[in-house]
Amino acid sequence: LPAAVICIGMAGSGKTTFMQRLNAHLHAQKKPPYIINLDPAVKNVPFDRNIDIRDSVDYKEVMKQYNLGPNGAIMTCLNLFATKIDQVIGILEQRVQSITSLLVDTPGQIECFVWSASGTIITDALASTFPTVIAYIIDTPRTTSPTTFMANMLYACSILYKTKLPMILVFNKTDIQSHDFAHEWMTDFEAFQATLRKDEDDELRQGGGGGNGYMGNLLNSMSLMLEEFYKHLSLVGVSAMAGTGIDDFLTAVQEKVVEYDSEYRPELEKMR
Ligand code: GDP
Ligand code: MG
Repeated sequence: LPAAVICIGMAGSGKTTFMQRLNAHLHAQKKPPYIINLDPAVKNVPFDRNIDIRDSVDYKEVMKQYNLGPNGAIMTCLNLFATKIDQVIGILEQRVQSITSLLVDTPGQIECFVWSASGTIITDALASTFPTVIAYIIDTPRTTSPTTFMANMLYACSILYKTKLPMILVFNKTDIQSHDFAHEWMTDFEAFQATLRKDEDDELRQGGGGGNGYMGNLLNSMSLMLEEFYKHLSLVGVSAMAGTGIDDFLTAVQEKVVEYDSEYRPELEKMR
């Protein structure tokens, strides 16, 4: 069965650009992917997609008709789409012979997909049919401070526990900022703590509010929890823009598919 890759990440992290890059790469290898766009609000999708939420629901119209703001409209579109997910899976099942992978782009606003019932329904429907992997896209240049890094990792962690699917952390935009620091922080707990301490000292010197060491202590204990979380993850650095790291990503997907088959699939079957 083809692997399904669901791209999730903060708005602007580069999900769409990454999908575009993967698509081009797989086409060049003569392994064209099957593409699903689940972002109803996106104006231009820079790649051919086989299934597009925008074909079945009109975001602008939903906003007007139900008098909703942007996030409410995205959620409503996802809800409408989720009611047809059986048909979508049916279409996918007819294509399994001819496709090698399935790529799914999600709405720019991460919480609309991750924390909505319809997002869960769509994810579960895919994951109970195909070996499914979450690609969590990170804006590397915006994650270099230890506190934002920690916040981003905790978000990824909560998604891992919510979806219970294998996850790859994709550090994007490495053309601007190398992800070496992230690799170091994730493998060397001491190094991360040292950076935290230094950050706190700097703040003290500037007369900032972090003087009582509360943040430092909190972050230290959270990073212990994260150490456990990191063991379950693969980490790759890519540049969706420059096209580097894509082969590393595809290798990680293969590894995660093996993990899905051995760990996740049996769990899913137990729950039925
Ligand atoms: P999305 O909201 O997660 O779908 O993010 P987009 O794919 O729309 O990208 C957001 C912005 O980041 C755009 O201006 C992209 O051109 C830029 N971007 C995406 N990937 C990269 C990258 O690898 N390097 C650089 N320098 N910019 C990138
Ligand atoms: Mg996008």
